[in-house]
Amino acid sequence: MRKNKILLLITAGILMSCSTANLSYEGKTFKKSYESISVENLKRNLSVIASDEMQGRDTGSEGQKKAGRYMISEYEKLGISHPKSLTDYYQNITKESLNGRNGGLPDSENILAFIEGTEKPNEIIVISAHYDHIGTKDGKVYNGADDDGSGTVAVMEIAKAFQLAQKSGKSPKRSLLFLHVTGEEHGLLGSKYYSENPVFPIENTVVDLNIDMIGRCDKDNCGKNYVYVIGSEMLSKELKIINETANNATNKLELNYKYDDPKDPQRLYYRSDHYNFAKKGIPVAFFFDGIHEDYHQPTDDADKIDYPLLAKRTQLVFATAWELANRNERIVVDKK
Ligand SMILES: [Zn+2]
Repeated sequence: MRKNKILLLITAGILMSCSTANLSYEGKTFKKSYESISVENLKRNLSVIASDEMQGRDTGSEGQKKAGRYMISEYEKLGISHPKSLTDYYQNITKESLNGRNGGLPDSENILAFIEGTEKPNEIIVISAHYDHIGTKDGKVYNGADDDGSGTVAVMEIAKAFQLAQKSGKSPKRSLLFLHVTGEEHGLLGSKYYSENPVFPIENTVVDLNIDMIGRCDKDNCGKNYVYVIGSEMLSKELKIINETANNATNKLELNYKYDDPKDPQRLYYRSDHYNFAKKGIPVAFFFDGIHEDYHQPTDDADKIDYPLLAKRTQLVFATAWELANRNERIVVDKK
């Protein structure tokens, strides 16, 4: 018994040391791309996405469409295209497919940007965030700067960093899908639609890294460099290790797993878009800052965002995606 135990400990030790020393983060291109994720750019994009002009981005509203057009114009400027099988960046969703919990919604769109992998182009890494919010009520605009303007601009910034790496001669091995979903606030409708009408086959979808609220802090954690990570070992033990390795190689945030407990009363694992991927057996990790006083209030504004922390969390998701896109073997699904 004892001997086996020692052997196990040695094996675990070797595994751990392998996972902490990761060569993929030592190259110049990674560093340059990672450092391109900037406070200034996140701020510039969020000041537009979460402005009053977008009228709180309610699903199918003109304000949401305007925000969508802005995002697309940024992708075009960067030279990042949409999946080839689509005629443009939109995955159109008719009102019949948007039967939300609050009743009838107008037609709306998911927005998809895409960088094709060189070695394994059919294997897809999804990075998602919802770009809808809850609109305008009693003359007050609910700007949703954190929810989920922060995730929206983070996804755009991660795409920009991968594009920079590609320009510097380091294209990702796997393909990257930057998925901006609609209808989240009405019941995860855009991601549900995507998971049921995927642009790339579900069996080729390796992982979903979902970002929903990463620009603020909750009262237990203000002043700390932290992020909640939810669901990262639910379907693949490797994913949690990869995310931790990425974190150790970069900003060393405190990764808080409080909401990872499926018995947690907040049930956050079920409450954002990644869940529609997990339901299909795709490993997911959900990045989140906690519930704060401006959550779903008209005061969730861009001037309350902690931009340096938003940049650090964005860099963590980028580093995790970098390894998932470039490692030799696709991560293994080992749990149901
Ligand atoms: Zn949200």
